[in-house]
Amino acid sequence: MAETSRNIWEEISDTEISVIDGFSKGYVDFLNQAKTERETVSFILNEAQKAGFCDLKEVKEIKCGQKLFWTGKNKIAGLMIVGEKPLSEGMNMVVSHIDAPRIDLKPNPLYESDNMAFFKTHYYGGIKKYQWLSIPLALHGVVIKKDGRVVNINIGEKEEDPVLTIADLLPHLAKEQMEKKMGEAVKGEDLNALIGSRPFKGEEKNKVKAYIKNLLKTRYDIDEDDFTSAELQLVPAFKAKEVGFDQSMIGGYGQDDRVSAYTSLKAILEVEKPERTALCLFVDKEEIGSTGNTGLQSLIIENLTAFLLHRSGNDSYYMVRKALADSYALSADVNAAVDPNYPEVFEKMNCSFLSGGVVLTKYTGSRGKAESNDANPEFLAKVRGLFDDNQVLWQVGELGKVDIGGGGTVAQYMAYYGMEVVDCGVAVLGMHSPFEVVSKADVYMAYKGYKAFMQSFRG
Ligand code: MN
Ligand code: MN
Repeated sequence: MAETSRNIWEEISDTEISVIDGFSKGYVDFLNQAKTERETVSFILNEAQKAGFCDLKEVKEIKCGQKLFWTGKNKIAGLMIVGEKPLSEGMNMVVSHIDAPRIDLKPNPLYESDNMAFFKTHYYGGIKKYQWLSIPLALHGVVIKKDGRVVNINIGEKEEDPVLTIADLLPHLAKEQMEKKMGEAVKGEDLNALIGSRPFKGEEKNKVKAYIKNLLKTRYDIDEDDFTSAELQLVPAFKAKEVGFDQSMIGGYGQDDRVSAYTSLKAILEVEKPERTALCLFVDKEEIGSTGNTGLQSLIIENLTAFLLHRSGNDSYYMVRKALADSYALSADVNAAVDPNYPEVFEKMNCSFLSGGVVLTKYTGSRGKAESNDANPEFLAKVRGLFDDNQVLWQVGELGKVDIGGGGTVAQYMAYYGMEVVDCGVAVLGMHSPFEVVSKADVYMAYKGYKAFMQSFRG
């Protein structure tokens, strides 16, 4: 039973604690390798192929126990293990998102001012803008040339790499700024990243910009107008690390929601011959409302289900509908951990705690639960039963006090199909900041919970 005072470290055996430490090392490596949705998809595919998963697009016939992968637009992915029961009886799915708040480059970003060159940016997702100032930033992404060639960019991660940064105003001259409301003190339009200061000798004007342009051309074969067809993201350049003298926590960028992506990936890699087909799905664009053709408001789940049925020789639209309506799902996403520095926004009987176990969040939403998927108690009862039977230590969670703010997850877009779904993930301190903090014990419990659900949830 969930209790607010629960500290799950007390309940975990020493043997399991050493397993948790090993698991966490792999997780930290993953966070350092996968800072964008594209990099996360590459990581997932690599792991899946090592574990013997085959490309659904190349498989002719669907067989029980088969391990399959699918990707879309290089930014979303799904891993499936075909169950003993027909797909039309529904799947057990775990769905996470692999995009994270960040600073994107504008399509025409490059300019010079006062002997310095800059990139103009447009932030992505919900950020507190001041947190992104005066920290080292790495540039990740792709530039697509007109002839289709792809230039992969990853600058700022290697020890010898330079980094970029957005300078903050010195306190000496910030009297007026400091008197502003926090949300207005730093303007989105002012998040310009410093990228150079060396002049191109002999050039008449815009010498610093000319130097950068020349460098981009010679080093990466990027012309200025190539930024039009690019997807370039500024992310924190520092590495994920263990946090605390006791090394009980992990700090790092993008743990909302790559903590769910990693734990569900590790889980499905270990699922064997499930009764119901297991689907582990990784989607994009959650942080901006699940829009676009890689976000869950599009037909990703429906098209993938239709594709699986088609490969099984079944083109009935009714069966697509039935498979989805009869599915069970965990919307794998993080919740806010109670922060004792800000007790005024948390209601401690129902909010989630660091090291309190994986969080089951019945509903999210704002005000009177607006835009929330409020999970059905019949389903929740079975999920907590499954967790208890499998030694998955868990707690309840709610996103802060009533009327204090709010937020949503992809759960509502899955519920749309009629499937049972509940939010389930790790409690995070400093969510959406460049350095989010989680408890290693909670991360491990998320993995155990997702694995039990995909392996053996019966409904
Ligand atoms: Mn999230
Ligand atoms: Mn988020």
